[in-house]
Amino acid sequence: AHVVCDPCINCTDTACVAVCPVDCFRVGPNFLVIDPDECIDCAVCVPECPEEAIFHEDDVPEGQEEFIALNAELSKKWPSITRQRPRPADADKWHGVPNKRQYLKT
Ligand code: SF4
Repeated sequence: AHVVCDPCINCTDTACVAVCPVDCFRVGPNFLVIDPDECIDCAVCVPECPEEAIFHEDDVPEGQEEFIALNAELSKKWPSITRQRPRPADADKWHGVPNKRQYLKT
């Protein structure tokens, strides 16, 4: 499956959700995740993300491995999101900020 990683936190652009053919994105307070049981690994969401936050589970960057389990866990409790929405007002402020895991709201 594909995995949403650290760069999405506090950005949640949602361009990804508009292109997913199987609607497997879920949304929380300040992060998106992919349900690994529904993702078909088509990879069309990858280039849509302006934060470059989405990776195949085999290519998750070093230090972000915990996001594989976080996507699996949080996708079971968060609601589906299938339509793009406006970026948060402060999303640009968080663009490129490393190690945002500490800000993740679950
Ligand atoms: Fe959806 Fe394809 Fe991205 Fe998986 S890889 S989340 S199926 S768009």
